[in-house]
Amino acid sequence: MQTTEAIWSSALSAISSALKPGQLDTWFKDVSLIRATPEEATIRVPNAFYRKWFEMHYEGLIAEALGRDLGARPRINFELAEAELRPRLPEQAPSPAAPAPPRKPVVSDLKLRNNYVFSSFVTGPSNQLAHAATLAIVESPGHSYNPLFLHGGVGLGKTHLMQAAAHALLKQKPDLHIKYLSCESFMNQFIYALQKGGIEQFRARYRQVDALMIDDIHILAKRARTQEEFFHTFNELYNAHKQIILSSDSAPQDIPEFEERLISRFKWGLVARIDPPCLETRMAIIRQKAEMRGRTLPDDVVGFIAETVPDNVRELEGAVLKTIGYASLMNRPVDLGLAREILRSDKPAASGGPVTCERIQDVVGRWYGVTPAELQAKTRARSIAFPRQVGMYLARRLTNRSLEEVGTAFGGRDHSTVAHACDRIEQEIAANPEFTSTVKSLVEQIKAG
Ligand code: ADP
Ligand code: MG
Repeated sequence: MQTTEAIWSSALSAISSALKPGQLDTWFKDVSLIRATPEEATIRVPNAFYRKWFEMHYEGLIAEALGRDLGARPRINFELAEAELRPRLPEQAPSPAAPAPPRKPVVSDLKLRNNYVFSSFVTGPSNQLAHAATLAIVESPGHSYNPLFLHGGVGLGKTHLMQAAAHALLKQKPDLHIKYLSCESFMNQFIYALQKGGIEQFRARYRQVDALMIDDIHILAKRARTQEEFFHTFNELYNAHKQIILSSDSAPQDIPEFEERLISRFKWGLVARIDPPCLETRMAIIRQKAEMRGRTLPDDVVGFIAETVPDNVRELEGAVLKTIGYASLMNRPVDLGLAREILRSDKPAASGGPVTCERIQDVVGRWYGVTPAELQAKTRARSIAFPRQVGMYLARRLTNRSLEEVGTAFGGRDHSTVAHACDRIEQEIAANPEFTSTVKSLVEQIKAG
């Protein structure tokens, strides 16, 4: 009989072929098969949010995939992981001497970007979980998933999603008291209050909010005092069922020098990671960003931008703006030639001007004692083949040229040859410090012109 793990791993490979790239990683990473018989299978999911999502989207797929190994499609039960059984904090009995003061009208200091709304957020496998989680919070703030902890690299949409939640909550209830601020402001206000003796007002200000959103919470790393203060604010709001949304550049447990008790609280709610968008999503984002400015970009331009600016939505957006802006400035249509001109010249223009394949061949050739013509020739002699690989690697690193284009510049080689050269040189760099310093020095010479 097969073990549960074996059944699950074979089911996962069937499931993965039915999903978009990235989706398996987003949704199934923290999900496991606990028991399986042909009648019934139990799947463990991290929390109630996942259960709902899985019941809606993946139940049939899982049953089908398990059915292949078990001989019949089992009924699927979803079980929550233990982390979901979160502790209640000790409730603080309201002191009878201090009845809750009537709510003062709040002077809103809420600064939200108008365009950071759900309708302008493009979803794909990389951000689907975070997007769905944020929407779920808007449906029942404070009750379903608290806190919501969004994490991911720079420019992937954390701030956008948080502000979208704020916009949507305010639309439902315009008098809701939402506090959205950067962690830096939170810290500065706290320090200021400490210095000026205004700590009570500081606390009061935070404890009367209906929803607290703090952006980039990871900057509290190493700030023990502010962490401590935040901890108390967190507890009070949490106990009062006030929604908390946090964003960070890394997962709770990966923020360096962060208090354990805060990390564990972050995990009580829903932790959602945003990954860099895949090609398809990048293309959708590019189209949407252009459409927001009343433009439709040709497909090849969309593809080119998506390939050239790989993993940061802010930069994708910047590239779209630059392309459109330049076209109107020069009174030219937006076409592939124009996009290439603009995005090419983006690479760090070192003192010596933009890096070209010609210059790379010159510098590398001089170093290894071969001519640019030899680097482009068909010969496979090792004394030339190796410098050629170094050249191709540097061309990929220092210019915006695609694999194909680098291949062409090095004597019409195909893209797989260039890819292979890059792998080879990367391995050599990892293994050989002496070679690494050679490459560094080549880079300096090339950049110096
Ligand atoms: P982060 O806070 O993660 O660094 P931001 O939320 O500031 O990133 O996003 C950077 C830029 O990219 C913003 O202009 C935002 O509108 C845009 N952006 C990010 N993700 C998306 C998306 N999925 N759809 C549309 N725009 C996005
Ligand atoms: Mg941000």
